[in-house]
Formats: sequence, C-alpha cells, structure tokens
Amino acid sequence: LVSRLQPFTSTIFAEMTALAQRTGAVNLGQGFPDTDGPASMLDAARAAIADGVNQYPPGPGQPDLRAAIVEHRRRYGTVYDADSEVLVTVGATEAIAAALLGLVEPGEEVVLVEPYYDSYAASVALAGAVRKVVSLVPDGDRFALDLDGLRAAMGPRTRAILVNTPHNPTGTVYTAEELAEIARLCQEHDVIAITDEVYEHLLFDGRTHTPLASLPGMAERTLTISSSGKTFSATGWKIGWICGPAELVAAARAAKQFLTFVGGAPFQPAVAHALRTELDWVEQQRLSLQDKRNRISAGLAEAGFGVHASEGTYFVCADVRPLGFEDGYELCRALPERIGVAAVPVQVFTDNKENWRHLVRFAFCKRDEVLDEAVRRLHKLA
Ligand code: PMP
Ligand code: GLN
Repeated sequence: LVSRLQPFTSTIFAEMTALAQRTGAVNLGQGFPDTDGPASMLDAARAAIADGVNQYPPGPGQPDLRAAIVEHRRRYGTVYDADSEVLVTVGATEAIAAALLGLVEPGEEVVLVEPYYDSYAASVALAGAVRKVVSLVPDGDRFALDLDGLRAAMGPRTRAILVNTPHNPTGTVYTAEELAEIARLCQEHDVIAITDEVYEHLLFDGRTHTPLASLPGMAERTLTISSSGKTFSATGWKIGWICGPAELVAAARAAKQFLTFVGGAPFQPAVAHALRTELDWVEQQRLSLQDKRNRISAGLAEAGFGVHASEGTYFVCADVRPLGFEDGYELCRALPERIGVAAVPVQVFTDNKENWRHLVRFAFCKRDEVLDEAVRRLHKLA
C-alpha cells in the first residue's frame, strides 16, 4: 500500500459494523437509518429501471436532477446555473474527493475542523495536500468552533477549508457568528470553502440551516456539497451533488470523470422527484429524529453517560468517564461482546486524540424499539 494511504487502511464504520454483525449487537455505530425513505421516491426508482434508465447518464448528471437541485438551493437564496454550476456525484464522498483532487496542489494546505468526517483526511492525503487541523471545543454542553485557532490556521499556504454543518460526529450546528468568521477569513486569505451539508435538513429545536455560500462574498468561492442519503434515508443510493461557480465545478468535474465518470442512473430521476415533492416527508422525518434525539439523550444520561447537546444530524456524543471508563475506543471494541451494543469512538476522527478519548458517538436514526433496547443494555455498564 502506498505510504499516503497507510494511515487509512480500514474505516471505523467497517470495523464496528463487522463487530456488530459478528456479535449480533444493536448497531448504533455506523449512521444509516433502519427504515426506508419516501414511498414515491422508491416507486420512481423502480419505474426508472422498468423504463430502461439503466445506461450511462450524462457526465454532469441527468438534466432534470440538476434542475431539481437548482430549485432546491433557491430555498436558501442561492442561485446556480444547472448546466455549468451543478455536478451530480457518487455521494458526497466522491464530491469531497473530486473537489480536493481538482482544486488543491500537492503541498498546499487544507483546513479541517476536528473531529472531522473520516474521508476528509484520506481525500486530502490522496490529493497530496497537507491537512491543518482546527478544533471544536466544549462550550457548556455544545461544541464551539475555536475561532482563535481558526485565525491562526489560515494563511498564505491555505488553499481550502472543509466546513461541515450540521456537524458529524458532534451534532453541532455552527452559529451565525462562527459562519461569519469562516467567511471573513476565507475572503481575507483568498481561500476556497468546500462545504459538506449532507445533514442540511436535520436540525433540531427550531434551528435553521445557513449555507456558507449564502453569506456575502462567499458564492464566488464556495463549493456546496450535499447528498440524498441522509435527506431521504437512502444512504446506499449514493446520489450526491456539488454546486458552485462554473470554474470550481469544472475543476471538480475534471477529477470526477476519471474517478467514476457517472453513477446511479435510475436513482437520479427518483431523487429529482423527491427533491421536488417529498420535503414534507423530510420535515416529518426531522421531527421524528428530534424525538429520537430526546429519547436516546435521556436514556444515555440515565445509564450514567455525560451527554452532549445534539443540535442536528443523527448523532449524539457521550462522555464515558462518569461510568469509570477512560478510553472510548477501548470501550467501543468491548461493548458489542460485553453488552450487545455498537458505537463509534470520536477519537478516530481526530489528530489530537487525547482531547477526544473520552467521547463515544451514538447514531439514533433507528426505530424507537431499537433505541430502547440499546439503552436497556447500556444500563448494564453502571
Ligand atoms: N459527510 C458527512 C459529514 C457524512 O456523515 C457522510 C456520511 N454519512 C458523508 C459525507 C458521505 O455522504 P455520502 O453517503 O453521500 O457519500
Ligand atoms: N456517514 C456515516 C457515519 O458517519 C457512515 C458512513 C460510512 O459508513 N462510511 O456513520
């Protein structure tokens, strides 16, 4: 294996899901829903297959899906040209990789916020770039962006920053002040923002999503990435997209054409249909997830964990120290065997592991009876 990939041999999701399957544990590790997305979207995919939508779609994505993506982004006041400013990708994962491969020279710096989704560091490494890590810091029961750290991290060598809100794994939703400071620094240092907004519809307690691209001066330097996986509970379909200025999208497209060329032909019209007609379903899903957030947060607290606020996504982080444990990774390796629950240690998403050792992430995008069973088992830790 080449040296630049050696730190990235197996993802935590593969490790913990395999462990959960081997032990029959309740899997609150890998984040995927255990119920399906809207019925009309599933029907649309079946119809597309029956209608013969089974060959290569156009390189940038099917025109109707690109048009639906443009319509969807208008809800935030951002306007894109469906032909030159939208690219359909194989999930947000490919979008992130293609953006970095197309835009960052070897040796240039990319700012990541720790804890960061695992593919970010791997994609930065594939591009031969250097990651510069800024941290979230506990602020009461939420995590806040370390703005002094961010100011120190950005400078003449910075080419791009990856911004993920709502944030996996902490569930943090960046405040207006945090977003404004990111925007100001991007403009000061002429940096490209690559935003990961896959949880854009999953915010709780009345919070609303603000894309960085909608801030003054940001549309011309931001690639906005999202995906249908989380919004429509179809994580296996891997239909994602990038919106941004034509020149930046063209750079990502140049890389994307040699990664996968295209993907998911019959799912593209189904996602277009869902973006246009199933946002009420998404709103119901959001409310249901908010209830689940409350349910598992209360359950974890009763079981003795120190529970952090989850403001969005479908993850909640919990401190294992009140239960007498020190290392979340050790605990996650033992949990499936010991009590039949799988979770993910937060430290695997970080460079500064010491600061994050005590945290474990639980996914709550599961049926209530599954969450209740997991909590029942977690009580045995006390
Ligand atoms: N970014 C974040 C923050 C995620 O949590 C995930 C996956 N769950 C992805 C990207 C990948 O999205 P996709 O499955 O569309 O590739
Ligand atoms: N994004 C999901 C998570 O954070 C899973 C992604 C994966 O399995 N690679 O759990």
